[in-house]
Amino acid sequence: MTILSEILGFNETFVSEKQYEQYATTKFPDKKIVVLTCMDTRLTELLPKAMNLKNGDAKIIKSAGAVVTHPFGGIMRSLLVAVYELRADEVYIVGHHDCGMSAVDTGNLTKKMVERGIDKDIFKTLKYSGVDMEKWLHGFGDVTESVKQSVDAVRNHPLMDKKVAIHGLVVHPDTGKLDTIVDGYEFNAKE
Ligand SMILES: [Zn+2]
Repeated sequence: MTILSEILGFNETFVSEKQYEQYATTKFPDKKIVVLTCMDTRLTELLPKAMNLKNGDAKIIKSAGAVVTHPFGGIMRSLLVAVYELRADEVYIVGHHDCGMSAVDTGNLTKKMVERGIDKDIFKTLKYSGVDMEKWLHGFGDVTESVKQSVDAVRNHPLMDKKVAIHGLVVHPDTGKLDTIVDGYEFNAKE
């Protein structure tokens, strides 16, 4: 049995038994927040439980490392759409300890790509096209610093509503304990 057939088999029962009914909600977040966090498997259920978020409570965006790297990339676009179109009034950027993106060795990663059949010359082509692979694939050294930088990037984005509180937190992937790195309310009060 493949993973796909297992998923589809389960899904048939899920739908026919109307198990979806308990999750019924709307596209607008009841708690009026949008959360950006990491794709880490340990956080899939743990983080919403640790933050007391149920289906319908929040918009949740996931990416490797919960990092906002590009001001006009998909993450920033999602945040802006959540704020302007989907009634999210606060942003929560939640990084975590022991993140895979805190230890990305770009040299090793490109080596693995070559081992799996990517032509070495591709990297030269990318380099001469202005793609800095090192910078693009590199994650971060310190999660606290990374969260601060992402909070700054979102807060100072030219299209972000200045009234929106941008919070930065770090979660422990075993215990779900949250530590506040940036309290967005405090920052807004100072302005
Ligand atoms: Zn992570």
